[in-house]
Amino acid sequence: MLNNSKSLVRHLALAGLLTSSFGAAATPAAVVPTLRYTLAMPAPQTHYFEVKMDFGGFPAEYTDVKIPVWAPGSYLVREYAKNVEGFQARTTGGQALAVEKLNKNTWRVRHPKQTNFQVSYKVYAYELSVRTSFIDADHGYLNGTSVFMYPAENKSLGSTVVVEPAAGWTQVSTALKPSPGKFTYKAASYDELADSPIEIGTHKVLEFTANGTPHQVAMYGTYTVDEPKLMADLKKVCEEAHRVVGQNPLDRYLFIVHHLERGGGGLEHLNSTTLEVGRTTYSTEAGYKSFLDLAAHEYFHLWNVKRIRPVALGPFNYDQENYTNMLWVSEGMTSYYARMINLRAGILSQEEFLGKLGNTITQVENTPGNRVQSAAASSFDAWIRAYRPNENTSNTEISYYSKGDLIGTVLDLSIAEATKGQKHLDDVFRLLYDTYYKKANRGFTDKEFQDAVATVAGRRYDDFFQNSVYGTKTLDYATVLGYAGLALNVAPLNPNGTLGASFANRGGRFFVTNVERDLAAWNGGLNVNDEVLLINGSAPTEESAKQLLGSPVGTELKLQVRRDGLTRDLTLKATADPDRKYTVQPVASPTAAQQKVLAKWLGTNK
Ligand SMILES: [Zn+2]
Repeated sequence: MLNNSKSLVRHLALAGLLTSSFGAAATPAAVVPTLRYTLAMPAPQTHYFEVKMDFGGFPAEYTDVKIPVWAPGSYLVREYAKNVEGFQARTTGGQALAVEKLNKNTWRVRHPKQTNFQVSYKVYAYELSVRTSFIDADHGYLNGTSVFMYPAENKSLGSTVVVEPAAGWTQVSTALKPSPGKFTYKAASYDELADSPIEIGTHKVLEFTANGTPHQVAMYGTYTVDEPKLMADLKKVCEEAHRVVGQNPLDRYLFIVHHLERGGGGLEHLNSTTLEVGRTTYSTEAGYKSFLDLAAHEYFHLWNVKRIRPVALGPFNYDQENYTNMLWVSEGMTSYYARMINLRAGILSQEEFLGKLGNTITQVENTPGNRVQSAAASSFDAWIRAYRPNENTSNTEISYYSKGDLIGTVLDLSIAEATKGQKHLDDVFRLLYDTYYKKANRGFTDKEFQDAVATVAGRRYDDFFQNSVYGTKTLDYATVLGYAGLALNVAPLNPNGTLGASFANRGGRFFVTNVERDLAAWNGGLNVNDEVLLINGSAPTEESAKQLLGSPVGTELKLQVRRDGLTRDLTLKATADPDRKYTVQPVASPTAAQQKVLAKWLGTNK
């Protein structure tokens, strides 16, 4: 935070100097540009936000005004300009200024040097997800990137933001710093504005303090929960998260929680996060814990990715994809720490923690794409793959979330073993925070991450990174779990045979939804979207389909399918199901060295 503000002061000073040199002939005194946003929503039921941008003292003869094409944390070009309409520019006297659209997300406004002028536009906002914007008669929610534009040459300029809520709306929740005036805020730069979502409406705001820092929880929608218990558990989770890196960059923090019919997912921001959950999430123990896991994940991002980050992820280029090989660190290890933090906070038992680890190994190892795509490639191609799944995704891709989670597990245990229980992955994050965020105020390269692991462990992992992170070599779970006195058990997931295909029953009609690489359906030519008309001469029912498709190994099945309006017959022979179930259990009599590694790994020796 300190480094960020220093660099902003430098940027502002630079902006001032440029102003004085460009404008020297006409204006003797340097004019520092100013920017003020007004966000209005007079007719929320029509799903429009109305934005005014008041520019003061801009030095050139024109100003290019842009809207991002993507939102940091969600690696897909979403083309937010498509929802903009009515872009206009006027002098303060009301005289229209010439506007030229240069490309999909840039408008050039021509204006006399250093005059004040106003840009106004509307944004259609009817996509309620954590990474987009939405407004209806009940509430408004926005991500800065999809609503606020910025002057292309002055992205580091600070601004004032005034929110004018719809009639009857009394609450505005945002991590932006309050400024004098009702619902008025300061953004230190466009990056901060873009990274500070805003919730507007009549929502309830809960509060707690964690590690001496005030936390607010803006709860939109209906839900049933024991609020004091939820806040107490969230506080425990936040305080455990603080212990990982051991440094608190926050003045305050905001959770925005959307309770919807269906929900799932969150998006991290600099000093806040948005979580989307089902209205009944808290009604079961599993749902309640899944909420705390999601909260821990997004909260841990305030260190991992918002501050400890790969070089490509900040400062951002809002015009295009920002490529990195390391989302397995930024996302995968964040998922890893979410589970670890919930264990250390006492929300998860050790048995539950190991159960979830076994499930993640099961999920990764049973995904054929794990043998095709590396964690690094999965990260790099997030922009074209992760957010655009198709019927072949599981055959060709591995999630950088789950694979990175397991790489974190392997590295953490390996570091604890290499240092005889003195260090663990937390120390790598501490080193990265100090070296690259606090001292250098930049992201780290792939090599610098590997160097940090080597420094903490006292040994290099070059072969490991090359083979199992940038390559697809299977992670050696059994060896590293053994360091902590844990055994990996492997058993067939399904004792029957399989065709390697999945089906969906749509109103009594059976359609192929997935064909798994290298199994009978794949090799025998069954296609996704084929409708199965007959299995061994009979029309399938839910029960018969299940039975027949799980026939013993070697059984021949005659399928008649309809494809593109024509029927065809296929004969497929069931093979053994290669899927395995992995479980992790403590050995009966761990050695003292194993117990030490286990205690360091789980953080129970603090
Ligand atoms: Zn994440």
